Amino acid sequence: MVSRIIPVDLFDLIIFGGTGDLARRKILPALFKRFCDGQIPQGSRIIGAARSDMTMQTYQDFAKEAVLAADDAPSHTAKVDAFLTCLDYVKIDAMGEEGWDVLSAKLDTDRVRAFYFSVGPNLFDDLADRLHLHKMVQDDTRIVVEKPFGRDLISAKALNKALSSRFDETQVYRIDHYLGKETVQNLMAVRFGNMLFEPLWNSQYIDHIQITVAEEVGVGGRGAYYDKSGAMRDMVQNHLMQLLCLTAMEPPAKFDPDAVRDEKLKVIRALEPVEPHHLVRGQYAETASTQGFREDVENPQSKTESFVALKCAVQNWRWAGTPFYLRTGKRLKARDSEIIVAFKNTPHSIFGPEAGQHSNELRIQLQPDEGITLKVTIKEPGPGGMRLLDVPLDMSFAEALGPDADTPDAYERLIMDVLRGNQTLFMRNDEVEAAWAWTDPIIQGWEARFDVPKPYDAFSEGPIDAMLLMQREGREWRKIAE
Ligand code: NAP
Repeated sequence: MVSRIIPVDLFDLIIFGGTGDLARRKILPALFKRFCDGQIPQGSRIIGAARSDMTMQTYQDFAKEAVLAADDAPSHTAKVDAFLTCLDYVKIDAMGEEGWDVLSAKLDTDRVRAFYFSVGPNLFDDLADRLHLHKMVQDDTRIVVEKPFGRDLISAKALNKALSSRFDETQVYRIDHYLGKETVQNLMAVRFGNMLFEPLWNSQYIDHIQITVAEEVGVGGRGAYYDKSGAMRDMVQNHLMQLLCLTAMEPPAKFDPDAVRDEKLKVIRALEPVEPHHLVRGQYAETASTQGFREDVENPQSKTESFVALKCAVQNWRWAGTPFYLRTGKRLKARDSEIIVAFKNTPHSIFGPEAGQHSNELRIQLQPDEGITLKVTIKEPGPGGMRLLDVPLDMSFAEALGPDADTPDAYERLIMDVLRGNQTLFMRNDEVEAAWAWTDPIIQGWEARFDVPKPYDAFSEGPIDAMLLMQREGREWRKIAE
């Protein structure tokens, strides 16, 4: 099955920070793939903007290297040259006057206009001011901002204020790239497009939900940033919270940006504060062949967590009594992200005690592969009585939809949504603030307790306390990468 490609309208996309790591690894390769699929009309312009001394030619060389180095670069490299004709560069300083008139003169008034703030948040205010000063913002101009969107409620409010003083909220696209993943959108399709699941999607039938985002990599070259951030701010407040919202939210009246975001917001507001004994922080230790977290961040005293596991509760009619367990960490056994919806046992077994306890489980896998599996109980084949067995009903998208099915990278999807003007998969200001309002007391709590993260073996399942968090309640995390 080949997906339907609908080209976007002619656009000018300006990437502030066009020479940076995000532009090189994600934004430019994503645009190239959409170009190869015919979604970007010829004549559209992608303008890199940064302080580096580059010309249009050297920026095109930079972009060529970036798109060809991408993991999943399309094989039709012949299209690279055509793609490069869309690219331009302006030397600009977000904090000074250089380059702004040049950029302004390049823009066309009668096409879609989007400014991608792929720079540190400390520059958002300056960029917003100068875009206005130079009258570059039209009514339907779009502003794309990246995480981290603040490091607490106060800083998030300040960023929102900087943006709202210059742009309408309908113009602002806050990226959480997890929302661009095909399976995350499929979660909504599975829940709200099928009669099968929704009647069971509540505490009467669901024992618990677990959300895991495990990474095999350590902090890499981001040590200085990560040591100030940690897993709670870097992953839980945004990615895991968004996955929780999509899993727990009520059906919106329609699939429209504010209807979806209103329902997500209600979930965050229904989250109870997390009790300290429902919270585990960890830090990966060194191995014979890899450095530990403290060496990676070059801070031997670091008390920052590279792992968090917690139990939380959504206090509303649908979820009262069904715990949500979240865990995320670096240097774990494998790269593995998934949502597990664990259904309750049948109320009574007609097969007797020897058949054992069985329950259904819906597994929504986000990475490394995307797919959905439903675990069902069947009879073990063969003679000798009624023995039961749990088997997966697998729906790996690649297999089910055939080799031509296109599952675009999250950035491809999200950038096209920006250009189409669809905000459904982007976080609204009140959502971000509500997420920080829930996260802040957790962080303040462990700071007040001088909490020291528990060490865990690199390439393991995380600290033993995280296992105990569930085992104490007769439950188990699904093994990472099983
Ligand atoms: P980066 O590699 O440090 O790049 C920063 C970019 O900003 C460079 O292009 C730099 O170019 C430009 N810049 C810095 N000061 C400037 C100024 N005064 N005026 C104009 N341009 C300026 O950072 P990054 O990794 O690309 O990240 C960009 C943003 O995305 C950050 O907020 C980051 O947290 C976020 N993010 C990044 C990733 C990722 O995987 N990299 C993932 C999620 C979110 P010049 O030095 O040439 O000016």
